[in-house]
Amino acid sequence: MSVRVRIAPSPTGNLHIGTARTAVFNWLYAHAKQGTFVLRIEDTDEARSRPEYTDNIKSGLEWLGLNWDEGPFFQTQRLDKYQAAVQTLIDKGLAYPCYCSPEELDELRETQKAQNKAPGYDNRHRNLSDEDKQKFEAEGRKPVIRFKIDSDRNISWQDSIRDTVSWSGSDLGGDMVIARAAEGDESYGQALYNLAVVVDDIDMNISHVIRGEDHIANTAKQILLYEALGAEIPVFAHSPLILNTEGKKLSKRDGVTSIDDFRKMGFLPEALVNYMTLLGWTFPDSTKEIFTLDEAAAEFDLERVNKAGAKLDCDILDLINSQYLHELPADKLTDLFFPYWKEAGYEVDKIDRAWLEKLAALTAPTLNRLTDVIKETSVFFEDSFNYSDEAMDLLKQEGVAAVVSEIIEGVNNAESIAEEDAKALIKQVTKSQKVKKGLVMRSLRASLTGELHGPDLTQTWLLLNKLGADKTRLQQTLDKISA
Ligand code: GLU
Repeated sequence: MSVRVRIAPSPTGNLHIGTARTAVFNWLYAHAKQGTFVLRIEDTDEARSRPEYTDNIKSGLEWLGLNWDEGPFFQTQRLDKYQAAVQTLIDKGLAYPCYCSPEELDELRETQKAQNKAPGYDNRHRNLSDEDKQKFEAEGRKPVIRFKIDSDRNISWQDSIRDTVSWSGSDLGGDMVIARAAEGDESYGQALYNLAVVVDDIDMNISHVIRGEDHIANTAKQILLYEALGAEIPVFAHSPLILNTEGKKLSKRDGVTSIDDFRKMGFLPEALVNYMTLLGWTFPDSTKEIFTLDEAAAEFDLERVNKAGAKLDCDILDLINSQYLHELPADKLTDLFFPYWKEAGYEVDKIDRAWLEKLAALTAPTLNRLTDVIKETSVFFEDSFNYSDEAMDLLKQEGVAAVVSEIIEGVNNAESIAEEDAKALIKQVTKSQKVKKGLVMRSLRASLTGELHGPDLTQTWLLLNKLGADKTRLQQTLDKISA
């Protein structure tokens, strides 16, 4: 059997991390089994669907590297197929028109509530006579189409993630609505979710339905529809939900939910997709936490997906992101930093590319996210900076002014400074001032950047020397501490 999987988002919002993680598992499974990954846009909810959300879903999947092999297919272009399936079910006697008004259904729900019964339709229009139907039609009532659900049925399937899952027909809320007439439509054109999904999954030869565990009850209903339509039932796999730090289902209230949010927070797509894979799956060698999609696909199987919900932990995501950032070559880093620098107003177009690449390589190990780049590099672009309290304390120590003064002399005597010159000068000052090398280095760093900590000092100095900024800063520091 050839593997065909799909992701079926509804374009009622931006690409959500839960949908994206489902896409990751589908992509990995398709690639693990040399299968096909289909993209289907479930846009039948006309009131809430928007083309810009479809664009956002597509570009988000592409950004994450989750390319699809077929589609996107749009449900709104397939309405005739759903209509035909509804007719088939009516013809087989498995579906029927129900004329209940919203008020009658509300009343039913109230009664059930008062009797402490689970809400659900009581199948009251299942066996209407032709006269009853004509009477309702004459009243101008528009029916919905309900699919018969046998309450004595036990529906069970072998879930690839959860083993055997069983569901009782009596817990499915009574005969389910599968279609209603669209406005001005005499046929049952507006198919509802469960029917449309099944018709599409049959039509698109989907072999494995991999989706979130919030769909388990739908799966029970859908299995009955497969049977009714005489189609083969696919393999189901229900993946765990993504939870917030409190262990509750991740929601809009948690602030970050869409892939766009994560992109804007400065995460790299490779790191995000790597982290999403870990939300519910571990590499067979569980110490391996950094891997590409292809490496994961080579090892991926649904049996290794956890049943328990997976907590979203931004600290782990930061850690993974920083590791990806540290591995990137300087030219790629520079390209990634460019928009942030420009947004901060730095005229990077006018700056020597080799200098920028050196700066990118120097600062990348200090970043967790791309958005940290300004904090970590501003001292190289801006003329003024503040001295931290600890840097000032150090600079005010006895003997430091003499150290700074001798460094200035050395810098003034040299046209430009290369790595060996920098090291030699530090050595010379250490010797002649009779101080520890550490003090010279800390004094230098504090004078150049206003901080006691930062990336490699020699490289920092060389980059500032290229701009001629080291002399100014050293002098400015000396003036400040001698004042
Ligand atoms: N449109 C459904 C959703 O976005 C798809 C569920 C499914 O995969 O069947 O949740």
